[in-house]
Amino acid sequence: MAERKSPVRNTEKCSVVGCSNPVERSVAREAAEEGGLDIDEGCKRAHLCKDHYREWKRVTKKEREIGSLGH
Ligand SMILES: [Zn+2]
Repeated sequence: MAERKSPVRNTEKCSVVGCSNPVERSVAREAAEEGGLDIDEGCKRAHLCKDHYREWKRVTKKEREIGSLGH
């Protein structure tokens, strides 16, 4: 939806280990790791490509739903 501007430069690569796609979004490193993403060491923030951002959003959303159901 609100994808007009990217907060990071396109020259950067995705922070997920093994991924070198251009960055689409950046999120807190801890948040990304909570979503099951393997973030490159030394990155304070997780810069995610489009695919990983989508994946991360899906996972974190799911976890939140599960968590609210009596954890
Ligand atoms: Zn990626």
